[in-house]
Amino acid sequence: MDSISIMRNVKDASETFLPNGMSGFKEASKATIGILGSGDFAKSLAIRFIRSGYAVVIGSRNPKRAVGFFPPLVEIVHQEDAVMKTNLIFVAMHREHYTSLWDLKHLLVGKILVDVSNNVRINQYAEANAEYLASLFPNSTVVKGFNVISAWALQFGPKDANRQIYICSNVVEARQQIIELARQLDFIPVDMGTLASAKEIENMPLHLFTLWKGPVLVAIGLSIFFYIYSFIRDIVHPYVKNKQSDFYKIPIEIVNKTLPVVAITLLSLVYLAGLLASAFQLNSGTKYRRFPTWLEHWLQCRKQLGLLSFFFASVHTIYSLCLPMRRSERYFFLNMAYQQSTLGYVALLISTFHVLIYGWKRAFEEQYYRFYTPPNFMLALILPFTVIIGKLILLFPCINRRLRKIRKGWEKSQLTNDTSTILLQASPERVTVM
Ligand code: NAP
Repeated sequence: MDSISIMRNVKDASETFLPNGMSGFKEASKATIGILGSGDFAKSLAIRFIRSGYAVVIGSRNPKRAVGFFPPLVEIVHQEDAVMKTNLIFVAMHREHYTSLWDLKHLLVGKILVDVSNNVRINQYAEANAEYLASLFPNSTVVKGFNVISAWALQFGPKDANRQIYICSNVVEARQQIIELARQLDFIPVDMGTLASAKEIENMPLHLFTLWKGPVLVAIGLSIFFYIYSFIRDIVHPYVKNKQSDFYKIPIEIVNKTLPVVAITLLSLVYLAGLLASAFQLNSGTKYRRFPTWLEHWLQCRKQLGLLSFFFASVHTIYSLCLPMRRSERYFFLNMAYQQSTLGYVALLISTFHVLIYGWKRAFEEQYYRFYTPPNFMLALILPFTVIIGKLILLFPCINRRLRKIRKGWEKSQLTNDTSTILLQASPERVTVM
């Protein structure tokens, strides 16, 4: 097949396709990297490699169409021409299209193929994508890697939170080569051993979202419950009792009553998980017994619960400051508490105090027990009080001393030889209890 090599003039580099502040290419002085595919990931990868001094050749089914998407220094050719130009090829295509490379099999012999693919579901296929690619091209060396980095992060440069990339391959030299390449691109490579780890690596980006799923559902559930609760008390009750129409309160006041209750409940859930874990450890007399699955998941989601709580509290602050006759410093202190204490117990204490100030008087007036239901603030305080009292109990010297000993590895003597205990520390999903 005719190859269409579309190497643009270097002086065209001023027509930059790079994001702001990323102008200026290093002279290509290192190896040539091949990339099959011309989608979002291929483009970001190409930009990153060019910036690090590599030459890049893109292999596309339609180079003429792809040429407009890439910076001028990138060479864009037909797939077979790209494969012939280099021994190191990133397969920036979806798994479903791997078989379309079948015709290139003879050209791929002895070359390194880097599988960057992800799936949309955890354990979507019985066989990892990288293993599938290796089975299609047994005479090539497949390396899994770079899939945990988004196209966006690739283009804009890695930030601390997402600098790690996980690499595995059955061929040690190939793995080492990709590890070194990752370092050159300013990532932190993590050697995951053989291709048997590919499935775990492919599941990693999806786990990030699973951690949010539970907390988001809890937040939505709480919001719906407390919204309906306030609606019945503040809109339906006056209407039924006095034919008073307070429907104007629906978009602002009812929402603003829901937000703080959800915020403080979510914040309490952050600490309730830790308290339950402490109680579990005290009861089992060891830190080496695995927590029940539900508690392990809950512990892992604490950061997400805390961030959602912060979000609800912030929206509540904005809402409240927009309402007339509010004392802004109260909300200012609440917000400060969240920020200064990085969602610590201080934030919970101050939030609880804030709710108490707001609702104290209502606790003693009959008119606030509409339809025999307690005021919102009383419901809102159940969990925070439980958590604060639980924490105070844990601070009792005798309990605190025992918990600290357990956390340092001490075990109740009869459990020492119990073979059923599982070393929690050895678990890949180890959970630290705050
Ligand atoms: P994309 O935008 O859909 O691009 C896929 C490319 O595959 C197309 O541009 C196409 O390039 C090529 N291709 C080759 N044969 C094909 C065929 N038969 N049918 C359709 N396309 C074919 O996808 P992407 O976002 O770049 O993702 C590419 C790979 O990177 C995927 O495996 C994805 O899981 C992985 N990944 C992506 C991201 C991200 O943030 N986007 C992050 C991590 C991993 P030509 O038309 O030029 O041949």
